[in-house]
Amino acid sequence: MNNVTLNVAGHAVSPLHYINGERIGSPQMFSLFSPIDQRALGEVAEATPEQVASAVTAASEAFPAWSRLSAAARRDYLHAFAAEIGKRKNAFCEVESTDAGVLLSRMQHGVVPRAMLNLTYFADHALTLQDRTIVTEQATHYVKHDPAGVCAIITPWNAPLMLTTWKLGPALASGNTVVIKPPEWAPLTCSLLADCAHAAGLPPGVINIVQGSGAVTGAALVSDPRLARISFTGSVPTAKLIATAAAQNLVPCSLELGGKSPFIVLDDADLEAAAACGALMYRNATQVCLAGTRFLVHERIRDTFVERMRSVVEKLTVGDPREPSTEVGPVIHPRQHERIKGFVQRAIDAGATVLWGGEPHPFGALYFRPTMLSNVAQDAEIVQNEVFGPVLTLQTFSSDDELIAMANGTDYGLGGVCYGLEAHAKAIAEQIRTGFIWINSFGIRDLAAPFGGCKRSGNGREGGDWSFEFFCDIKDVVVPSKPFVPSFSHR
Ligand code: NAD
Repeated sequence: MNNVTLNVAGHAVSPLHYINGERIGSPQMFSLFSPIDQRALGEVAEATPEQVASAVTAASEAFPAWSRLSAAARRDYLHAFAAEIGKRKNAFCEVESTDAGVLLSRMQHGVVPRAMLNLTYFADHALTLQDRTIVTEQATHYVKHDPAGVCAIITPWNAPLMLTTWKLGPALASGNTVVIKPPEWAPLTCSLLADCAHAAGLPPGVINIVQGSGAVTGAALVSDPRLARISFTGSVPTAKLIATAAAQNLVPCSLELGGKSPFIVLDDADLEAAAACGALMYRNATQVCLAGTRFLVHERIRDTFVERMRSVVEKLTVGDPREPSTEVGPVIHPRQHERIKGFVQRAIDAGATVLWGGEPHPFGALYFRPTMLSNVAQDAEIVQNEVFGPVLTLQTFSSDDELIAMANGTDYGLGGVCYGLEAHAKAIAEQIRTGFIWINSFGIRDLAAPFGGCKRSGNGREGGDWSFEFFCDIKDVVVPSKPFVPSFSHR
C-alpha cells in the first residue's frame, strides 16, 4: 500500500483513496482541519470522476466471487474486520474526536463498540434470513434474497464511523460490494476502516473508498449506471440531487435525512426526568438527526419545566471533546457556526425570547452556547427548519389536539420524544407521523428494529430485516407441483 499518511492525534491515517485493495492518490487535494481548535490536519485526496469509475469497476469485478461465497464465509470475514476495529479502538476514538469534534467518551463507550456490532450483527443476521417458501396447488415458490450488486454508501460528517458501518454491515453480509464516499469534513475514520478491511483479508474490490467533495466525487459516484443501490444519509437538498441522478438509471435509493423532531412534555410527565433528558438534546452540539429540537410543553407545567431544564443546562460543560468532563463540544465547521448564528439572530429579530444561550461560547471559535428560544410561531423559520446546532425551540399547547397538530406541523417526520404517563404518551405517539418515537426515554436503538423517517425525513428503513430488504433483490424460484403442460390459453 502507498504509505503516505497524516499524523492525527498520534495515529497514522492515510489521506488516500482505497481502490481495489490499494491506496491511490489524486492530483487534487482538499484541506482538513479539526473543529476543536481549527488546527490543520493535512490534505486529503479528492477523487476525480475517472477514479470514481475505477472504484466502481473494482467493485463490479469483485462482486461475482464475493456474492457466491456462503453467508457463513462472509460472516467470518466481517467478524475478522470488526476485530481489527477493536484492535485499533484508540485510533478510531481519538481520530474521529479530532476530525469531527465528537466527545471522546462517546466514541469509546458508544460509537466504536456500535461500529463493531454493525458488522457482526448483520453478518450473523444474514445467516438467519428466512428464505420463504410459498406452497400453492400449482407450485412451490422459493423466495430468495439475492445480493443486488455494487452499492454506493454516502454518509454525513456528524457520525461518519457509525453511519458508514451501519450500511456496510448489511451490504457486505448480503453479498454486495461497495464504494464508500465519506464526508469531506470528517473523512478520516472511514480511511481507518480501509486499513481494517485490508488487515482482515477482505478480497480487493469488495470495499472501495473514494475521498472527496459531494459536488465532484459524490456526484460522479451516484450517476454511475453500474450501481445497483445507493444508500445515503445526509440533508434533504443533497438527497434531491442524488434521487435525481439515481432516477436516470432507475437505481433504488435509501434516503435517511434530516429531522425537526418534537420533544413533548405532557402535563402528567415526570418533569425532573423530562428535564434531564431534554438537556441530552445538546449531545454532539445537537448535530444529531434524531434529536428532539422542538419542545412542545403543556402550558400548565411550562414554567416549572423550564426552570428544571435550565438548572440542568446551566451545569453542562462546554469545551474540548477530548476532556472526559466535557458534555458539549464544537460544531463542525465555520460555515455551520455562521449558519447557526444566522438562525438565532433571525429568530430574535422575529420576536423570539432567549431562555438561555443565544450566542457563541467563549471556549473557541466553533463553540456555541446551548440555546433555548421561546415565543416562536409554528410557521417561524426556526421551528420549520433543521438548524443542526445546539439551538432548541419551546412552544406550549393546551390540548392533545393542539399538540398533535403542532407535532405534525413541519415537513419532517424523523423521530420524537414524549414524556408523560405511559398510556397517555403512547396514545399521543399513535397520532404522530414519524419514523420512531421514544416514550419517557431517548436514543434507545436496537439493530433488529427499523430506523428511518417519513415525509421529508426520507424513505426506506434500515435495521434488521429491513436493511436486507434494501440491499437484496428478491427472487422467486418457481417449481411446478405437477408436470408443466405448455398452453397458449393458460393464464
Ligand atoms: P450533506 O447532505 O451536505 O452531505 C452528506 C454527504 O453527501 C456528504 O458525504 C457529501 O459529500 C455528500 N454529497 C453532497 N452533495 C452530493 C452530491 N451531489 N452527490 C453525491 N453526494 C453528495 O449533509 P451533511 O451536512 O454532511 O450532514 C448533515 C445532514 O445529515 C443533516 O440534515 C442531518 O439531519 C442528516 N443526518 C441524517 C441522519 C439520519 O439517519 N436520518 C443521520 C445523520 C445525519
